[in-house]
Amino acid sequence: MKFDTIIIGGGLSGLVCGIRLSRQGKRCVIISSGQSALHFFSGSYDLLNVLPNGKEVNNPLTEVKDVIKQAPDHPYTKLGLDQFTRLVRDAELFFADINISLYGSGEKNHYRITPMGTLKHTWLTAQGFATSEQAEKLQWKRVSIFNPIGFLDFYPQFIADEFLKLGTESDIHLFNIPDLDHLRYNPSELRSTNIARVLDKNIDKVAAILNEKSAGSDAIIFPACVGLEAGSLLELQKAADKPVLMIPTMPPSIVGIYTQQYLHNYFLKLGGVYMLGDSIKKADIENNRVKRVYSFNHGDIPFTGDDVVLATGSYFSQGLIATPDRVYEPIFNLDVSYADDRQEWYNPKIFEPQGYQRFGVKTDADFKGLLNGRALDNLYVSGAILEGFNPIKEGCGAGVSILSALSVSESILTK
Ligand SMILES: Cc1cc2nc3c(=O)[nH]c(=O)nc-3n(C[C@H](O)[C@H](O)[C@H](O)COP(=O)(O)OP(=O)(O)OC[C@H]3O[C@@H](n4cnc5c(N)ncnc54)[C@H](O)[C@@H]3O)c2cc1C
Repeated sequence: MKFDTIIIGGGLSGLVCGIRLSRQGKRCVIISSGQSALHFFSGSYDLLNVLPNGKEVNNPLTEVKDVIKQAPDHPYTKLGLDQFTRLVRDAELFFADINISLYGSGEKNHYRITPMGTLKHTWLTAQGFATSEQAEKLQWKRVSIFNPIGFLDFYPQFIADEFLKLGTESDIHLFNIPDLDHLRYNPSELRSTNIARVLDKNIDKVAAILNEKSAGSDAIIFPACVGLEAGSLLELQKAADKPVLMIPTMPPSIVGIYTQQYLHNYFLKLGGVYMLGDSIKKADIENNRVKRVYSFNHGDIPFTGDDVVLATGSYFSQGLIATPDRVYEPIFNLDVSYADDRQEWYNPKIFEPQGYQRFGVKTDADFKGLLNGRALDNLYVSGAILEGFNPIKEGCGAGVSILSALSVSESILTK
């Protein structure tokens, strides 16, 4: 099977890359084993919240220069200041162009509200989610927080307690609509995805409850379990008589699943081929180029292409595999940076930065994967599998995945 570009991994990074290349007329295939980190998505894309030295970041566009000083292997260091700045703008335009509405900008981090009601810096937040511009104060005097009776993956009281510390009072309302009752026969059925399937079809009933019970509040806070179906969240917001703002629940993430499906469908509409549920297992490398890659489902029938993009994610998606004595990349056996001394992998203080988070595939400055110290001519690496950054401590996970994908697609297009 011959394509212009073979993309291995169909999470955020692989999909952004695939869409960007397909829009420019490249014939792309994405082969993806299964779910991606988007299924656990908060609704907010982080660009740079904290520097490697622990200092909080307010303006990623100007403060990235400190990343460049502090972290030589960081993907942002490889991009450099000018390319980083340009790609942040490109990324914001990319989402606007494909009709994904996001709030925020790389010039100023805003705050998202976590499932525990605390505030956390971020870059871009999905439309309809609760955000704040300030850390010390929220924009509402009083909110009404709603939750379906028996839904255990959302914590109104924690949120109300945190809001009160910031001067916002809350009233909490547990509600039901009869269509949810069949989910209660088995408590494990009362999960965000199943609830969303019901609520999306009953927006009028939900809006009537919200309007009746939220008199006296400035805004309605709602668990992010509406919006699996296109347009339903907007419909709820229109039917309610005050702003309805989502706060993420425990996974699965409705906004993440929606985003994954939306990007997937967008890629298909551009003529891309997406093979879900297949895994690349090995490749032939000749003359410093990837010649063929082989998948489980296609056996001896290889995929061939001018360029290959490896976007298989980190440990979570098995793009990286950790054994007791090494960390490796399982398809090409690319060079991986990791500490030889296993003591450096972990910090027993669980909230401290963990060494293993920075491990990843080594690349040159163009994100070409290194094999035995040499960059392969046509194998690019993007996303969470890259070396040199800590997505959790630095709050830069989505930023690295998106910006590296845009950079890689630019390199392929300008060859
Ligand atoms: C649980 C979790 C939650 C996160 N939440 C956020 C958040 O809210 N905001 C934020 O900014 N960042 C978040 N991050 C950081 C996250 O890494 C990035 O935001 C981003 O989504 C990662 O995208 P990716 O495409 O690089 O990798 P992934 O999303 O991991 O996708 C990799 C894909 O490759 C596929 N794959 C793996 N091996 C193979 C193979 N051999 N053949 C074919 N396919 C393969 C996998 O099945 C998967 O679909 C989160 C990370 C995790 C782990």
